[in-house]
Amino acid sequence: MLVIPSRPLSFISSFNFPLQQFCSKTIITCMDSSITNSAANNCSREPNKVVSSGEVGISVEEWRGWGPTSTVPSMVTQVIVDLNLLEENVDAHMVFRGNHGKLSGDFKVQEDKKHRAKYQSLSDSEQKLQFFSARQIACRVLGSRGYLCQKCWLASGDCMCSKLITCPLWNRVRFWLYMHPKDFLRQNNTGKLLWQVFGVQAATLCLYGIAEHEEMMWDALKLAGKDKVWCLYPNKNAPASSVKDSMAGLSFAHVENHPEADGTHSLNFVLIDGTWSNSGAMFSRLKERYKLMWGEEEIPCITLNAGASMMHKLRPQPSWDRTCTAAAAIGLLDELHDLPNFVSYGLDKQAKAIEDAVEVLLEALTARRLRMGRSITRKQRHNHDIV
Ligand SMILES: [Zn+2]
Repeated sequence: MLVIPSRPLSFISSFNFPLQQFCSKTIITCMDSSITNSAANNCSREPNKVVSSGEVGISVEEWRGWGPTSTVPSMVTQVIVDLNLLEENVDAHMVFRGNHGKLSGDFKVQEDKKHRAKYQSLSDSEQKLQFFSARQIACRVLGSRGYLCQKCWLASGDCMCSKLITCPLWNRVRFWLYMHPKDFLRQNNTGKLLWQVFGVQAATLCLYGIAEHEEMMWDALKLAGKDKVWCLYPNKNAPASSVKDSMAGLSFAHVENHPEADGTHSLNFVLIDGTWSNSGAMFSRLKERYKLMWGEEEIPCITLNAGASMMHKLRPQPSWDRTCTAAAAIGLLDELHDLPNFVSYGLDKQAKAIEDAVEVLLEALTARRLRMGRSITRKQRHNHDIV
């Protein structure tokens, strides 16, 4: 059974390093081949290389700039503190290569040993998951700093933000992007488009294994009530209903004139934003927490009629697997719009806004690949994720 500790971060309380002292140094960033900083000359042949020159913390402004609505998670802060301490002790620079937060060089060798030892020292699977998630996220943030646009998660030179058109989402719908840490700051992630278009209050990021995020989401779901929570999970093994079966009976007449969308009247849809192979564990965690909160064995799931064709339409690149998150949101909004009780809320236009955003993302990714001299037909490296 899943253990939800009331103070999940208590085990790190033995560390007591004030964060302020780690905020004074700078990061050197090498973006593609356009190196302008003489201090970074030694990495001029390494694309996307980010070198930390010392102890660097993360402010809440920076953290929220990447998409989350929370304060900086305690364990992410702790991982960064530990990375900075290690950098001091081993006298090797923290160097990231690629934009997925992968460490490299001598520092990587040292850090591998240290994080493996730390992982082994943790006593239960819950702590291990939280540490795994925090480390992934901390490395991704540090390795993307100064290289990726914080909003669209593309390299700054490929930023697509000026082409995106925002659109308010009907205030009785709320999306939760339950995102795997390995999909955080990925340029081809489509979940980020939801909050870019609808705003972070309508489409909120919840990082898998980050206690603060999961608490925030479950607090909001508790407030809404179990009859207003659904998971979009395309798993044939999980009992699921169609949009029509789940939603056709709902009426909003009593809340239409409600002055504020305070969350208690919203329909909450949890979108699992991870690769096919990771989504099983993510769904299980949701299911366990739902059971813990409401005593029900199954979290209500929705399957989309248009699933296959919609995914195909939005999959010009093989690496966009069936869990394309934006496609799920588009399909849901379109199917809701087809129901008489939802027809007057402009959900079709809101679906179109996300579809347009996906097009903008695809154009930006294609332009990037052409600019980098790569084929626009991607090799099928994620095929193992597709069942
Ligand atoms: Zn951007």
